[in-house]
Amino acid sequence: MTDLGAIVRDIAAEMAEATERGTVADYIAPLKAIDLARFGIALVTADGACHAAGAADEPFSIQSISKVFTLTLALGRVGDQLWQRVGREPSGTAFNSIVQLETEHGIPRNPFINAGAIVVSDMILAGHRPSEAIGEIVRFVRGLAGDEAIYVDESVARAEQASGYRNAALANYMAAFGNVRRPVEETLGVYVHHCAIAMSCRQLALAGRYLMAGGINPETGRRIVSQRRARRINALMLTCGHYDGSGEFAFRVGLPGKSGVGGGILAIAPGRAAIAVWSPGLNERGNSQLGTLALERLVQRTGWSVFEPAEDA
Ligand code: GLN
Repeated sequence: MTDLGAIVRDIAAEMAEATERGTVADYIAPLKAIDLARFGIALVTADGACHAAGAADEPFSIQSISKVFTLTLALGRVGDQLWQRVGREPSGTAFNSIVQLETEHGIPRNPFINAGAIVVSDMILAGHRPSEAIGEIVRFVRGLAGDEAIYVDESVARAEQASGYRNAALANYMAAFGNVRRPVEETLGVYVHHCAIAMSCRQLALAGRYLMAGGINPETGRRIVSQRRARRINALMLTCGHYDGSGEFAFRVGLPGKSGVGGGILAIAPGRAAIAVWSPGLNERGNSQLGTLALERLVQRTGWSVFEPAEDA
């Protein structure tokens, strides 16, 4: 029997010793102040057991990990029509890149780069006021995690809104193609607020359970998405969840995963576990340096890569 508790504790201890910790994102002011020494890991298995170590209960800014939840919500709202406005291909470019939008007529490559997530925010906003759309997203995430304490860190949202020139450029550019349809400031307001949701590793792993369990929240038995949709979201996380570092993440870890510039990563071992790691230092592609290393070690020790034959097969 694999002792998962010992594995996560060992990994946290190893990460505490690591010297190459990456660099903290500095373009969103409050994120600059986060201590590079922080590391947390939590995982929830298919049978409901939770194993955690390090700063697993400390909330951090989930940033782009929220794009998994907004994609899920928007698919529930508009269905597969969503794919007329957002693609499903890895971009091979940075998370905030604008280059492909011109030749591709304002249709972002995938829902996990900033441009794609801004279109998804625009869809969730349709027919609502921004505060209602933000409230709906937060309630959805709270419901997934089963935790009403999850909140939006307003200081992070405000800081990003004040300095978000690139995202404003992306949104305005897509509006020119008719692919952002609500007032740009409102769509961006929804986007920065869902990026500013604060969660701990434990809350994030709990929120990710539906992707581990074929679309069902295993705690409540409630179906969140169809099995096919859960499988497809996992496929997009594997191919696009780490931007231009997605190939490297698949190579090293081999799990669907979504990173954020706050240093978190949500990874899914389908049928086995939902895993969240957090360490604020980023690599050159904007993905958590030690978060990736921790997941690589977890997969080595558990055999959980989706490319590994199942032990019980
Ligand atoms: N809110 C961040 C941004 O728009 C999200 C980026 C990320 O986490 N990679 O720049």
